[in-house]
Amino acid sequence: MGKYQDFHKRSIENRDDFWAEQAQLVEWKEPFTQVCDYSRPPFVKWFVNGKTNLCYNAVDRHAAERPNDRALIFVSTETDEERIYTWAELQREVERMAAILQSQGVGEGDRVLIYMPMVPEAIFAMLATVRIGAIHSVVFGGFAAGSLATRIDDAKPKVMVTADAGMRNGKPVPYKHLVDEALSLAEFPPAKVVIIDRGLDKGFPRVAGRDVDYAELRAQHMDAQVPCVWVESSHPSYILYTSGTTGKPKGVQRDTGGYLVALAASMKHIYQGGKGETFFSTSDIGWVVGHSYIVYGPLIGGMATVVYEGTPLRPDPAIWWKLVEKYKVNVMFSAPTAARVLKKQDPAYMKKHDLSSLKHIYMAGEPLDEPTHEWFMSELNKPVIDNYWQTETGWPMISAVPGVEKTPIKYGSPSFPVYGYDLRIFREDGSECGPNEKGIAAVVPPMPPGCLSTVWGQDERFVSTYFSLFKEPLVYSSYDWAIKDENGYFTILGRTDDVINVAGHRLGTREIEEAVQNHKAIAEVAVVGVEDKLKGQVPIAFAVVKDAGVVATPDQVKALEKEVMGTVDGILGAIARPGRVYFVTALPKTRSGKMLRRSLQALAEGRDPGDLTTIDDPTTIENIKKMVAAG
Ligand code: ATP
Ligand code: MG
Repeated sequence: MGKYQDFHKRSIENRDDFWAEQAQLVEWKEPFTQVCDYSRPPFVKWFVNGKTNLCYNAVDRHAAERPNDRALIFVSTETDEERIYTWAELQREVERMAAILQSQGVGEGDRVLIYMPMVPEAIFAMLATVRIGAIHSVVFGGFAAGSLATRIDDAKPKVMVTADAGMRNGKPVPYKHLVDEALSLAEFPPAKVVIIDRGLDKGFPRVAGRDVDYAELRAQHMDAQVPCVWVESSHPSYILYTSGTTGKPKGVQRDTGGYLVALAASMKHIYQGGKGETFFSTSDIGWVVGHSYIVYGPLIGGMATVVYEGTPLRPDPAIWWKLVEKYKVNVMFSAPTAARVLKKQDPAYMKKHDLSSLKHIYMAGEPLDEPTHEWFMSELNKPVIDNYWQTETGWPMISAVPGVEKTPIKYGSPSFPVYGYDLRIFREDGSECGPNEKGIAAVVPPMPPGCLSTVWGQDERFVSTYFSLFKEPLVYSSYDWAIKDENGYFTILGRTDDVINVAGHRLGTREIEEAVQNHKAIAEVAVVGVEDKLKGQVPIAFAVVKDAGVVATPDQVKALEKEVMGTVDGILGAIARPGRVYFVTALPKTRSGKMLRRSLQALAEGRDPGDLTTIDDPTTIENIKKMVAAG
């Protein structure tokens, strides 16, 4: 495993040369004069004075080279649509959208808030915004009016782009109604709202003077030619909020040049995607994975991207694999949550389609537990590579880097710190942990290109949120608990808030979850620590079974609870044994599929579940509340 180690070492010790080389993967209108300006820690600027444009690199340069190759494949199993755009067509649509935005008053540095379902127009809007030097803020479609209003007020957009409705599980979800509600709550509403009317919500209200129709404007700008605005490398490209798993979301501000180079390099070294190949990420443009690996990364790398509106289960659980076969997908990106959903289905669905085009699949967002990792990899018979990263970083922090060296995959581990990140594990006193010693994962700054420049409008919060773990040394931390084995493989054990202290023993919730997952009846589980007079804390497990039939009677529940406890005893010892195992039908998650452990813990301790603005299904909380109350 020497080759990758050398590559990583060089990226840290020879930082400027390393990144200057990566910067050759993209096009600059004017060259940069300095690779890295770190004169004001912890703020960092990359590729200083370089002028470029994200949209140019993602669209125009490929359209010039391969105009008739496919660039964007849109499939909706919700509306039964399929639309394929070539690079030339994509550029034309983006220029039309750019002309529309300009006609509504958007100029360089203005914000455009995009609240859209997964349709190509959402991606046109993102690319058009950065094309004209404006800044987008994509808010996940489906967030409630209050959450949307907060994000509107934070960005103060000049224009909003939305649709009449989205579709989820075959039912229309009204967007425009919700936007109206949010705009009535917002203190800084935009002057104009561009509406893509999909004909899903007939007769939605339009506000004269404010609401404008996309199709009408598009017809006026059919021949629009809108040149790219060349911006300085640190010019903000977008604002994006974190998932809100641990509390109030933070508005991550991204630059242009650093992000561009980081993504281009990741396509080469990590994802190994080639020009003309196809990338399918199952995420949503409302999340960072969607920004980086539905929109910008694949397109910058010259790959066609699949934009999918639908769930992994409709019309049946083979749908993803059907798309892989049909569009000859080469690289996939998904999330552990989705893998666990598929694990609950008939395994025959995984074998129905020809997956020979697929080289590998990447996973991020939550810990990929060892049993699920192993299951997924053996079912697919493809490398499944876990990626650890955050909205803040914009691209992976820990991953295998097969484009440099194909290192063996260790189940349950995302492998090694990615080049550019001087990532280490620290004790609480700021000293470094040894092999196999649990601690806090943190990066010695400067953060590499692509990571957040600051928290939008709140430089103070940027410093205090991410750089105040220790007085000395200065490190970037998002408070994840990790361990590194003697071969250098990292494992993320959960957030530092998710560490349970049982009679003086510190256990990551993830370790216990993984042990529970080893029981064959369990599909999914969340473990939280609950206050205990005697032990300090005890773990409590909330588990979803694969087959509800096994917990149909109280006796069965008792028996299975005992078995699960026994499984944990066998793997981690009695110290980690859950005090209770509740069998639930569904677990509370954020819209991005992350477990809301803080809410589960609050419920288990009889407290209020807290901020639920990012929750996916509020009934999960109600059901668990009842169950806990019943004892
Ligand atoms: P907030 O910061 O608002 O509380 P969040 O941290 O969930 O929300 P994201 O940026 O979407 O917001 O998620 C990043 C976090 O997700 C990481 O800090 C880590 O806790 C978790 N995570 C992401 N990928 C992995 C992975 N591969 N393995 C383990 N944990 C992961
Ligand atoms: Mg976070």
